[in-house]
Amino acid sequence: MEIDPNRRRVTAPGYHPPEELPTISGDRGLDHEEKLIFEIGRDGVTGVDLPNVQVAATRLGGQQRRAAIGLPGLSEPEVIRHYVRLSRMNYAIDSGLYPLGSCTMKHNPRLNEKMARLPGFGDLHPLAPASATQGALELISQLMNWLTQLTGMPAVAMSPKAGAHGELCGLLAIRAAIQARGETRPRILVPESAHGTNPATAAFAGFTVDEVPAKPDGRVDAEALKAKLGPDVAAIMLTNPNTCGLFEGEIIEIAKAVHAAGAYFYCDGANFNAIAGRVRPGDLGIDAMHINLHKTFSTPHGGGGPGAGPVVLSAALAPFAPIPLLVADKNGFRLVEDSNAVPAGTKPFGRMCAFHGQMGMFVRALSYMLSHGRDGVRQASEDAVLSANYILASLKDVMTAPFGDGPCMHEALFDDSFLEGTGVTTLDFAKAMIDEGYHPMTMYFPLVVHGAMLIEPTESESKGSLDAFIHVLREMALEAKAGKTARFAGAPRLAPRRRLDETQAARKPVLRWKRDELPQAAE
Ligand SMILES: *Cc1c(COP(=O)(O)O)cnc(C)c1O
Repeated sequence: MEIDPNRRRVTAPGYHPPEELPTISGDRGLDHEEKLIFEIGRDGVTGVDLPNVQVAATRLGGQQRRAAIGLPGLSEPEVIRHYVRLSRMNYAIDSGLYPLGSCTMKHNPRLNEKMARLPGFGDLHPLAPASATQGALELISQLMNWLTQLTGMPAVAMSPKAGAHGELCGLLAIRAAIQARGETRPRILVPESAHGTNPATAAFAGFTVDEVPAKPDGRVDAEALKAKLGPDVAAIMLTNPNTCGLFEGEIIEIAKAVHAAGAYFYCDGANFNAIAGRVRPGDLGIDAMHINLHKTFSTPHGGGGPGAGPVVLSAALAPFAPIPLLVADKNGFRLVEDSNAVPAGTKPFGRMCAFHGQMGMFVRALSYMLSHGRDGVRQASEDAVLSANYILASLKDVMTAPFGDGPCMHEALFDDSFLEGTGVTTLDFAKAMIDEGYHPMTMYFPLVVHGAMLIEPTESESKGSLDAFIHVLREMALEAKAGKTARFAGAPRLAPRRRLDETQAARKPVLRWKRDELPQAAE
């Protein structure tokens, strides 16, 4: 058995896929098949031992529960095992390479986590008075300073909770600026390669969406865009680098045309990881841009919400930034929460959410910035681009890269032409990656190429781990093209679950467990 330090998994001779000899227990090695907690719980079992409650008279006004609440009954070790087993079915950036494009799944440094858990930050209450939270407010102020410096923009709104929420914040600021000019402009231009959140946000904010086509080289068609500009256009929403992993080289010209038409330039900053520290969006003529702290500044992508998508604003939009506003005066820092008591010259459009934002994410992002320094942030961007180009150059002879003639930015885009006639689809290819121990890349996005496979390795992968990944994808592509398609049909074979019926799952999702429906629900 040969052990190559670059390979992530060593397959010993004599290894048999489990299907050939099912286990007696139904478990697979130390990976347990786990039922729903309601199925393993028993009536009458509990993990806690509390004394009976002595209540003379209830004060529930007849509203008290008459039947058992139906919680699953388990002992404490059973509960712990249940959740630990489930957690082992998860794939995470801490378990392996996560090549999703358009997501920037980079390492979450442990230093960030340590800082976020400092009691002064971790235990902070959002309603604590400013006198007790000066340090936290100063941290937010420092983070704002980093974000405005790195982007070359004068202002930043910190409260949006994610990239998409930031888009909404930017468009609401744009709408307020247009209203302040006494105009109504109902239309927003969005390139066809845009992330789905862009048109969704524009529609949600009450605008109509007009699509701008892409050129054969994967960039937005600047001439087509200019032709669509007019007095009814409020803004364009452009991603740069775009979702094909390409820099929009005509961006300054586009910004000039947009401003000449009286419109604003919203930039989707999700791909800032490719240019942070090298390019200042403010120098390109951008009016508003969200920054996904969970993409560029290494905060974790959480289940249930990434947490922070600050929006930097140009001088034209800065007065309309939402409350709360962070101000500093001789008495220290304070938050302005009342829209009738805002500093002179500001006209907040309203507010995005209850509090000032996600403190835990702010601490992590600033910790990342301070530990890297400005030169380190720039180095991270350069390495992210280098890694993506290494992937592109190493795979484009066996996979097909529609825009692979020149270099890419932080992500490498392939289409499915190399699979033509093999019977293997992008979906099969991606699912077979799971059997190889890799999370699939982004599939079928962006929509401008057929059967897209978008790979973003990020700067935090070593050359060894990239080589191992490239080796697997090359072998898979060569096998598919040689007609050896067994590993693709029905993949994944080795994951806790086989290929799911995704149409049924989307059309008839089983979202709720009901005791009576157990047989169907478990299917
Ligand atoms: C991730 C992403 C978004 C949305 O950001 P969230 O933080 O997930 O809401 C928008 N646009 C692009 C290009 C993205 O990659």
